[in-house]
Amino acid sequence: MEKIRTRFAPSPTGFMHLGGLRTALYCYLYSKKHGGDFILRIEDTDQERFVEGAVEVIYSSLHQSGISYDEGPDVGGNYGPYVQSERKELYMQYAKKLIELGGAYYCFCSKERLESLTDENGNRKYDKHCLKLTKEEIEQKIAAGEPYVIRQNIPTEGKTSYEDMVYGTITVDYSDLEDNILIKSDGMPTYNFANVIDDHLMNITHVIRGTEYLSSTPKYNLMYDAFGWERPKYIHLPTIMKDATRKLSKRYGDANFDDFLNKGYLPEAVVNYVALLGWSPKENVEKMTMQQMIELFSLDGVSKSPSIFDDVKLRWLNGEYLKEMSDEQFEKVALPFFQKSKVYGKYDLKLLSALLKTRVEILSEIPEKIDFLEEFGEYDTQLFYHKKMKTDAQMALTVLPWIKEALEGLEEFTHDAVHDRLIALATEKEMKNGQILWPARVALSGKDVTPGGAIELALILGKEESLRRINFSLELLKKNAQ
Ligand code: GLU
Repeated sequence: MEKIRTRFAPSPTGFMHLGGLRTALYCYLYSKKHGGDFILRIEDTDQERFVEGAVEVIYSSLHQSGISYDEGPDVGGNYGPYVQSERKELYMQYAKKLIELGGAYYCFCSKERLESLTDENGNRKYDKHCLKLTKEEIEQKIAAGEPYVIRQNIPTEGKTSYEDMVYGTITVDYSDLEDNILIKSDGMPTYNFANVIDDHLMNITHVIRGTEYLSSTPKYNLMYDAFGWERPKYIHLPTIMKDATRKLSKRYGDANFDDFLNKGYLPEAVVNYVALLGWSPKENVEKMTMQQMIELFSLDGVSKSPSIFDDVKLRWLNGEYLKEMSDEQFEKVALPFFQKSKVYGKYDLKLLSALLKTRVEILSEIPEKIDFLEEFGEYDTQLFYHKKMKTDAQMALTVLPWIKEALEGLEEFTHDAVHDRLIALATEKEMKNGQILWPARVALSGKDVTPGGAIELALILGKEESLRRINFSLELLKKNAQ
């Protein structure tokens, strides 16, 4: 059987759209599942939209995502160059050949003439005016240096069909298609032409891309047929939506891969989540490694209907990835977020990492989760009230001095030492553990919601700061009791 070859063909826009990332991922999964090759091709023929550094963003996003390509501009391969602007001459040769085959023609129409073709609804369709030119007229115009474009010659009547591996039979009326420009006046090809030439020359067997190309694919098929080339197989993918009516958009920070990383999502979690936008594995699993995705990926599971981006699910999945990290790994990925916190440098990151790993879903929650370490001042002593534990401010006035004494007496301030001492205290005083631990937690943090309980808090704060806070809380309780 022929080796499967897929390609991801992004235009360098300066950011990696999640939809693009999903296309790249499915191309990768499909080719790897079948022992094939995955190719990266840069589609930069629209030079007006050139963005500095944009190609590097593509490389780095794929790299961070764990999507590796077998051929591409920076890794080489037998079918290069893999950047379209470096293939300019080649497109011109093929365009001329297509003209000879009757599939395309020169067009010399002026801007004014083209504008005059606009109807009352603002729509414009080229009227094949230049198709009538004789060979001599064309040669004369070219010799006189008249600017021209090359257009595709599309039949005016009839229908055409092809099979999409997701959407099934797609039928389009030729009358709905346009004689699009294939080569612009600057000699550069348009996407409409370059994608066909490159997919053929690069031996691409399966074209996987967004559904926006579903209805223009018949135009590309006409060219494959005119050249006598075998058409590739097509797999179009459903749009990713923010909600029922809106697409994801970079402007709202919900489409750009980098924005997610900056918000504290892990690349592997985003990639895993993106895989599920339009595909559901039969086995009904959600959290998958790249290797598992390769094994499970199947076009049967790819949906035709738009997928809606679910923020809550992505957060959950990210949390799952964080939980299974070692404390050291967590500390490493969390470092930039610790650095954003005011308490950075004052507390032990190892202890904080162990504490937070299971308590945040995205890393950007870190600074706010640990702000209690920074701000400690007057607080509402009602917080000592805990219905189930039957604790309140009054009771705290009784137990805090015991807690203080217990902690003061500790030589070693380790997790086990603090834990054992406080639990022993509860036993001595014939109280429930929570009746000691709850007042201790509030006294140490001035809050009722904290990551971790009294023991963890005491450990992070250290003995000295813990005692200082307990003293402060006692004074506060006394003052309020008066
Ligand atoms: N350059 C096109 C895009 O970025 C690629 C479409 C295709 O995969 O054929 O949308």
